[in-house]
Amino acid sequence: MQTGPASAFPAPGAGNRGDAPEPRAPRKASAPAGPAVRLIRATLGVGILLATLFTAWTPNSIFANDFRDQLSLLLTPQPGLGPLVTPLPLLRIGIVSGHSGNDSGAVCWDENGQATLTEAQVNLDLATRVQTALVARGFQVDLLNEFDTRLNGYRAVALVSIHNDSCEYVNDQATGFKVAASLDTRDVQRAQRLTACLTDRYARATGLAFHAGSITPDMREYHAFSEIDPETITAIIETGFLYLDRAILTEHPDVVAEGVVQGIVCFVNNESVQPPPVPTPAP
Ligand SMILES: [Zn+2]
Repeated sequence: MQTGPASAFPAPGAGNRGDAPEPRAPRKASAPAGPAVRLIRATLGVGILLATLFTAWTPNSIFANDFRDQLSLLLTPQPGLGPLVTPLPLLRIGIVSGHSGNDSGAVCWDENGQATLTEAQVNLDLATRVQTALVARGFQVDLLNEFDTRLNGYRAVALVSIHNDSCEYVNDQATGFKVAASLDTRDVQRAQRLTACLTDRYARATGLAFHAGSITPDMREYHAFSEIDPETITAIIETGFLYLDRAILTEHPDVVAEGVVQGIVCFVNNESVQPPPVPTPAP
């Protein structure tokens, strides 16, 4: 599933500024402005500027980084002024509970052929814990189904989908977690930051190793990546293997969830992080 690539070419006319001087409009004669008139003009100018800035400050403008930087600079209390009380808009984060509302995902069977645990159960438990913990940290969090209709054009600071890997015994190396970002994101740098944050913080919190070798095209071409708003930064994490990592996933889900939460918080707060390991593509 590919979305149309963002155009790599500038809009017609872009970059041509300055090639030719624009004709200057003839200046109208006007009476010289006195000091009082100039002061009023300056005051009006600042007022209009501030009104424009505050009108533009909606949650939808959170992606306008330059603008946000300018605003935060503008709102930084200066010495001699009282502290400014500016309520911050709640940042929105989406958490997809893998397979929820659709299918069971991977299944653990006992010797009698009875299902003892499903990936969807584990994912939902973890996703709910992540949601609760992020809400407690002051975020607005949507808990989403695998094929949630809200994913269509979904807009958030970050969208993280939680999955887990097989409950079959593969080999002794089938343990650890994986993180993948979308290949067709508009902002590769920020997508890589989310991946790096999740990878680093999750490994620290859980002690699980990054299982780079098994990132599949299914993860990279995850369906939700092409449904959401292209500005939304997104990643999919498989928090472990249901077979060898079952103990931590089911007995210490709070630790697992905290690893995801810290990864998201690292991204949102722009915390410093090591670059993620470069996965070796399967031959
Ligand atoms: Zn899954």
